[in-house]
Amino acid sequence: MNVPLLDLKEQNAALRPEIEAALGRVLDTNGFILGSEVAELECELAGYCGAKYAIACASGSDAIVLALMALDVGPGDEVITTPYSFFATVSAITRLGATPVFVDIEPDTHNLDIAKIEEKITPKTKAIEPVHLFGQCVDMDALMALSDAHGIAVVEDAAQAIGAEINGVRAGAIGAIGCFSFYPSKNLGGMGDGGFLTTNDDALAKKLLALRVHGSEERYYHKYVGLNSRLDGFQGAVLRVKLPHLEGWTESRRANSDRYRSMFIDRGLSEEIGLPVERTNVRHIYNQYVISVPNRRDKLRAFLTEKGIGTDIYYPVPLHLQECFGYLGYKEGDMPVSEKAARETLALPIFPELKPEQQTAVVDAIAEFYGR
Ligand SMILES: *Cc1c(COP(=O)(O)O)cnc(C)c1O
Repeated sequence: MNVPLLDLKEQNAALRPEIEAALGRVLDTNGFILGSEVAELECELAGYCGAKYAIACASGSDAIVLALMALDVGPGDEVITTPYSFFATVSAITRLGATPVFVDIEPDTHNLDIAKIEEKITPKTKAIEPVHLFGQCVDMDALMALSDAHGIAVVEDAAQAIGAEINGVRAGAIGAIGCFSFYPSKNLGGMGDGGFLTTNDDALAKKLLALRVHGSEERYYHKYVGLNSRLDGFQGAVLRVKLPHLEGWTESRRANSDRYRSMFIDRGLSEEIGLPVERTNVRHIYNQYVISVPNRRDKLRAFLTEKGIGTDIYYPVPLHLQECFGYLGYKEGDMPVSEKAARETLALPIFPELKPEQQTAVVDAIAEFYGR
């Protein structure tokens, strides 16, 4: 049985008539850049995230750049972050001329290890940028306590975590600014690039609104040097069709995770592989279902590929070891937990429309690999 890592065909087919009608509305009104569909979407997203403001932009990567720009991060500043994430988490920092300062991750959740942050804080630390990796919030209670104690702003990279919660509060509504992505593989995916920011702060919202349109509050009068980073009306229209379904999709992802867990335990495989660890006070939204395979990860992956089962590795090279960040002077061994994760993690199919029989095929194949 063929089991892709992600298959959007079923989801899109079901919504096609609604999506076509929504695209037609944009054609009829010429609202191609931002426009009324995006304005409505921003209101709906603010409500969904439980934040005062949601501000759409051109991508999740831009959202992080804009957030750091709004906090005046620039040359000479340090931003504390994780080396175990997607590239954009860190490129946003270096693009502004600031220096990323890496802190290693927790071995079980793969999220930033908050206990290791304080020793890295210096007078130059301008922001802390945690990533809610794979859809599970970092320990925001501990992080916000640190942020308050030192007066350092937190920018949440919530690109993988729309709708994720910790103590009942949603990702993006806790730190100074939250950053989200509409990349098609995210839980709320557009049909192209897109992203948005959240904040509860009036002044930051005003600045972000200016920064995404070349830093102007009034057309042709530029208060800042901003970006051109706006969401298309077509994306706004598509995302408004999809947003009402997001809760259902998230619940399906969570149900798929529960089903994997009991299947892996029933088959005695939870000794061979590490299952995702979910903290008790969180709502994990499973953007990715990532297992740890201590020894033969690449062999298992090749075996599954042969069986028609899609997998991926998030992430094979931790960011402190990327060639382009060589000038920062990190070397192998500096972030041992991240380096171990890069050798051991494997993402399995978890998308909402995944069928129980497809999950059985995944678990059967892994059982076969281990001779069960
Ligand atoms: C996807 C992602 C981004 C970037 O989002 P884009 O919309 O692809 O630019 C940033 N950070 C993390 C953790 C992501 O997963």
